[in-house]
Amino acid sequence: MGAAVTTSYRAEGLPYPQDAPVSQALFDRASAIVPGGVNSPVRAFRAVGGTPRFMSSGKGPWLTDADGRRYVDLVCSWGPLIHGHAHPEIVAAVQAAAALGTSFGTPTAGEVDLAEEIVRRAGIDEVRLVNSGTEATMTAIRLARGFTGRAKIVKFAGCYHGHVDALLAAAGSGVATLGLPDSPGVTGATTAETIVLPYNDVAAVEAAFATDGTEIAAIITEAAAGNMGVVPPRDGFNQRLAEIAHANGALLIVDEVMTGFRVSAGGWSGLDPVDADLFTFGKVMGGGLPAAAFGGRREIMSRLAPAGPVYQAGTLSGNPLACAAGLASLRLADDATYKRLDELSATVGALASVELNKAGVPHRLSYAGNMFSIFFTETEVVDYDTAKTQDAAAFKGFFHEMLARGVYLPPSAFESWFVSTALDDQALEQIAAALPHAARAAGGTA
Ligand code: PLP
Repeated sequence: MGAAVTTSYRAEGLPYPQDAPVSQALFDRASAIVPGGVNSPVRAFRAVGGTPRFMSSGKGPWLTDADGRRYVDLVCSWGPLIHGHAHPEIVAAVQAAAALGTSFGTPTAGEVDLAEEIVRRAGIDEVRLVNSGTEATMTAIRLARGFTGRAKIVKFAGCYHGHVDALLAAAGSGVATLGLPDSPGVTGATTAETIVLPYNDVAAVEAAFATDGTEIAAIITEAAAGNMGVVPPRDGFNQRLAEIAHANGALLIVDEVMTGFRVSAGGWSGLDPVDADLFTFGKVMGGGLPAAAFGGRREIMSRLAPAGPVYQAGTLSGNPLACAAGLASLRLADDATYKRLDELSATVGALASVELNKAGVPHRLSYAGNMFSIFFTETEVVDYDTAKTQDAAAFKGFFHEMLARGVYLPPSAFESWFVSTALDDQALEQIAAALPHAARAAGGTA
């Protein structure tokens, strides 16, 4: 399908055209039968406009779309692919597992291997494997409520924890407020138990506990926020959340779905230790296949069925292919991997910042480990309100120029950029060559 794979734009000396006929035809077919033409909303390019690219294959740092165009991938499947696309060891592990059967509906050795690897890296007592980050956070909340016998949950505006009803509330109004649902279909009764607070604001958390302390089951926070663009927690913020929760008989759930095993062997909490009661994981631990997990203290985890009364289950949980991919991905992720990811993200961020400065475009480069994003604003970004000061139109121009020049960025200004160890010199050159044009398209004048 589609044209033959072209050489990279540097070889041709020309950017790709704005239109993408084969992707467009696929999008038209999809849009007739799939809501919005996609199976996850941000893929639809609504925030940046244009036709989403339908990808046909990936190898190392490269993605190839259905029109045969090649892009350096700075999304990496929204984080999981720290080793790049189609890493030979991960592919071999999946092939070997598939040859033995795709699913048994029984326990398998692979699940134990993956669980042991996660428990060791995260320094937790017990873990349960599930299929998506959403399932992980949903069940962590159910477990926290079951364990404490309380109903209320504290979350932070701009933090995304999957499409769990109780967590689809970002309200965003200053201090402690009752959450308002973000989505029709999520009832007010569900989010009435959710208290939404500004990220990085310890005083707001203290105030919420002063009012509702005896009713709060848990605080849930992204280990480092990556879903409003990247906004790291202030020094000591996560640990302070643990202290406040524990002083009030509540739990702390640290959501490492995005950061876990990406920013260090032990996730964000490997860099910024925290006495959390429960953690959630996903993305990297599935090696690009659907797998996620939650885990933590034995006293709490032992309340989960069948050991305890809090119910949770899954037909495909601990799927053998997903476990094989996840285990291969984690076993490949050694100290050198994290060092390389850090170096590469520093390089790409600095390249972008230099060009934006040259073009006179106000921006803030924001890192959490090797995750980063660029906010097109002069305001220091510490929470969702400040993240929203950015100029989304500037990002649109920047995004499309990068795309036309063979660099695939997240199609929204409110998402993290992700690097993989597969980024090589050719890929970095392609990014460097695209950036001056993208910086000018972001509204710069130079
Ligand atoms: N938690 C965080 C921090 C996430 O970034 C995401 C997804 O991006 C989720 C939870 C939900 O994970 P999933 O998309 O696998 O349901």
